[in-house]
Amino acid sequence: MMSSTRERPRDALRRVFGFDDFRPGQAAVIERLLAGRSTLAVFPTGAGKSLCYQLPALLLDGLTVVVSPLIALMKDQVDALERRGVAAARLDSTLTREETQAVLERMAGGGLRLLYVAPERLSNERFLSRLRRVRVPLLAVDEAHCISEWGHNFRPEYLKVARTARDLGVGAVLALTATATPSVAEDVRRAFGIDAADHVQTDLFRPNLTLHVTPCPAAVADRVPLLLERLRAQPGPTIVYVTLQRTAEEVARALTAAGVAASAYHAGLEAPARAEVQDAFMGGALRVVVATIAFGMGIDKADIRAIYHLNLPKTLEGYVQEVGRAGRDGEPARCELLACEDDRIGLESFTYGDTPTPEAVRALVDEVLGGDEAFSVSVYDLSQAHDIRPLVVETALTYLELEGALRATGPFYAGYRLRFLRDEDEVLGRFDAGRQAFLRAVLAAGKRGRTWLTLEVGQVVAATREPRERIEAALRYLEEQGDLELQPSGLRQGLRRAPGAPAVDDLTDRLVALFRRREERDIERTAQVLRFARDPGCLVAHLLAHFGEAGRAPCGRCTSCRAPSSVPRAIPASPAPRLDDAAAALVAALRAEGHAALRLPRQLARFLCGLTSPATSRARLGRDPRFGRLSHVPFGEVLAFVEGRPPG
Ligand code: ADP
Ligand code: MG
Repeated sequence: MMSSTRERPRDALRRVFGFDDFRPGQAAVIERLLAGRSTLAVFPTGAGKSLCYQLPALLLDGLTVVVSPLIALMKDQVDALERRGVAAARLDSTLTREETQAVLERMAGGGLRLLYVAPERLSNERFLSRLRRVRVPLLAVDEAHCISEWGHNFRPEYLKVARTARDLGVGAVLALTATATPSVAEDVRRAFGIDAADHVQTDLFRPNLTLHVTPCPAAVADRVPLLLERLRAQPGPTIVYVTLQRTAEEVARALTAAGVAASAYHAGLEAPARAEVQDAFMGGALRVVVATIAFGMGIDKADIRAIYHLNLPKTLEGYVQEVGRAGRDGEPARCELLACEDDRIGLESFTYGDTPTPEAVRALVDEVLGGDEAFSVSVYDLSQAHDIRPLVVETALTYLELEGALRATGPFYAGYRLRFLRDEDEVLGRFDAGRQAFLRAVLAAGKRGRTWLTLEVGQVVAATREPRERIEAALRYLEEQGDLELQPSGLRQGLRRAPGAPAVDDLTDRLVALFRRREERDIERTAQVLRFARDPGCLVAHLLAHFGEAGRAPCGRCTSCRAPSSVPRAIPASPAPRLDDAAAALVAALRAEGHAALRLPRQLARFLCGLTSPATSRARLGRDPRFGRLSHVPFGEVLAFVEGRPPG
């Protein structure tokens, strides 16, 4: 009965979305999904991947669940769908408890077609038990390359997404990504059980993009004149990508001083400032955005005429995504990479700063597996205690889960701080005697500061003998009435130790090996970018080969095609710095001072290279004049020097 009464995809495309035709690849994907086949869609950014699940969601019976790591994009899509009259909602960390509850009720009542969730949501037992009661014909997984260790943005929680998809028994999975090398595509297909025949891929590049590589000097200030020259020669909206926030600021200032309408955009700006830059750029008032990779996720501007990479990108995957923002209107666009090998040191620092010491990994595993069977942790506390960056702690916990040592039971808040916005006695006076006594007991169990009252929920439960749910419901009620301001604090992850977990030694070894492998792969990715920049052969063919399309004819327009050569392009590099007696004295002095945060060679090397860690931040060592003294030296060499080894 299904297919005979089902609206034809093309009709729904017109009726709901107002588009006349499918874009390349869309029809092939949608056809497969409607036939219940799991599918992998590899289309470049802006090619229209979302429609590949939005349209089937309207035609399939049940709820389509979309997993996406980007909260801002989820919100935009849900708003756009609602404007088109489609029942869509999202569940993410920015919703209040009541909003979450309302979404869950719509889901249970069958009133929703599409539900967007962040990947973590699929580790939440309470959510899963509700989802199991709903028919899910389609699970769409955006940014699916995150599942692959070979990918440039591996996120272990994606491995849990694949496991959950199997457990839930969803009808079909649609994995979506803008970039996938052959090994990444294979990982994604294996994880979600997708046939090679159901891998739909469109052209990686629009033919109107021209690629250039230009060797450039080491100092950013010396690159700016080159950039200005280009901006004068090539009119139109332009994005300039840089590695560091402070470079974005510096370059935007220099361009402005030279009379170009330019602004910086990076994650260090407040949200309103970022929105202002984005709006001005979209509206045409601002010609140039100088940005870190934080810019571009949701940028759908058709007439971008040029993308300049003022620094080396970290990976070819990132590079392809970034240049893919140019020329969506089909008109010619210039993509130019300024290349200097010195940039590599800064890129590699991101990687090295993440790798924890084996000692720290062991201590973390010991702490997590050494306690009660059911327990909870604060990622922040673990990060501080073991000097491991918070995201890396999360990765470690996820791995312990995947290794069968732990089971996540969901996040919760350990406490709240609150302050009354109206007179406290007046507020309490509105309630009957019983409720008033309850509220007074709750407040009495907290600690009063000058402005804020701090509540540890565990203590309040013990003092009042009331269940956690009642206490939290009362606080939220008062917040909603505008009686008080309520801030949750101390986010904790509930965990359960699994029976028969592997031994601590074993798990430590596996985690240490995992982090080492990640480091090696990231370093190799940066090497790939340099090989691309040096290639005397066609640059387009080089990229296509990297993404699995070997043997493409030369484009005839890129830097390499225009000036054919048989030797690699020379990319400038400053001479290798020498680690001399002064450096040795520096190391000796820091050791003699006995800083707890700099005890291990790796910690000391991070400090000298200017890489922050939770322990150095807490000890305020980032302000020490010696912090970053060796940041011009590759991390590997500094580490070898500190360890007294010959450099690698
Ligand atoms: P991706 O996720 O691949 O980066 P999106 O799904 O965000 O791309 O789509 C990019 C833009 O293309 C959106 O504005 C969308 O409305 C538009 N679009 C998608 N499919 C079509 C189509 N068949 N015809 C016209 N516009 C489309
Ligand atoms: Mg998308």
